[in-house]
Amino acid sequence: MKKRVVSIGAVKIGDGHPIAVQSMTKTKTRDINATIRQIKRLERAGCELVRLAVVNKDDALALKKIKESVSIPLIADIHFDYRLALQAIESGVDKVRINPGNIGADWKLKKVIIRARERHIPIRIGVNAGSLPGDILKKYRHPDSRALVETVEHSLELFDKFDFKDIVISAKGADVRNTVDAYSVIHRKFSFPLHLGITEAGPSFTGGIRSGVGLGILLHRGIGDTIRVSLTADPVKEVTAGFEILNSLGLRKTGPVLISCPLCGRCEVELMPIVRSVQKRLKRYKNFMKVAVMGCVVNGPGEAREADFGIACGKGMGAVFSKGREIKRVKESILVDTLFEVIDENFDN
Ligand code: SF4
Repeated sequence: MKKRVVSIGAVKIGDGHPIAVQSMTKTKTRDINATIRQIKRLERAGCELVRLAVVNKDDALALKKIKESVSIPLIADIHFDYRLALQAIESGVDKVRINPGNIGADWKLKKVIIRARERHIPIRIGVNAGSLPGDILKKYRHPDSRALVETVEHSLELFDKFDFKDIVISAKGADVRNTVDAYSVIHRKFSFPLHLGITEAGPSFTGGIRSGVGLGILLHRGIGDTIRVSLTADPVKEVTAGFEILNSLGLRKTGPVLISCPLCGRCEVELMPIVRSVQKRLKRYKNFMKVAVMGCVVNGPGEAREADFGIACGKGMGAVFSKGREIKRVKESILVDTLFEVIDENFDN
């Protein structure tokens, strides 16, 4: 279904706008300096929206100072206490996420809605399988996709009663299939933009894979307007993983994409240090480009030609490619340096 457009500060999501990559700070929000430092690192990594946990009044008040020091839109993450949402809005946040499973009576939500409307900021209905309302959990016994969808429906009825439509929806679970099913139904039924995520996905490796599978299925079906890859790791990795998912589906073209072969018995150079070195040096490039690092002449030249830049290794040496053409052959010891000389000569960063 065509999605409404929602503005979160200067970032617009929904109806054809780029799918925004977001993350969440892992500091205590009231530790203002540490939080600002982390947000600045996220900004440098390309993060487009950042969410902060608001656990108490000090967190809610700290948002004002944090807001003054960063330019990325801020989202206050609220559970249990509607008054924290009111204070966060007062502090100038660009969006509020509330959990309908634990925010309490309707009148509390109404107060948040009235304040958000006054300030023209959207609210995310952030349904989470781990904290569904008791009556719905009792009905379905497990936080399956039906329970997630019904929680969203109930919340939307409430928002509808107060005629508030500046809404983003999420319905996250740790179970990939349930989450995919829930988002698929919600996408069909409602025109509000969707924030996608697999919650509690795990550490970088497993979490990245589970998020890649879940988000990948949905995004490929045209579902999703902003994504957060939840990892038990440095939040910068969430941003990198988010762009990697979007780049791999051709939905965004952000930063360099490294293609490297898995390496096998045909390879006659030390490929792993070459790949690590290329990966490290690519971090300073912001614009989209494909760089291929291939271990031998079987698939190497083909892949290297298809990429914007590439190397295909031979015995103790390698050929360097630029825009589909072999440029030069050099010794293994200067292969990476030569690749980056060629990139810098031919790439507009
Ligand atoms: S490119 Fe060559 S070295 Fe790399 S996996 Fe393929 S055959 Fe093996």
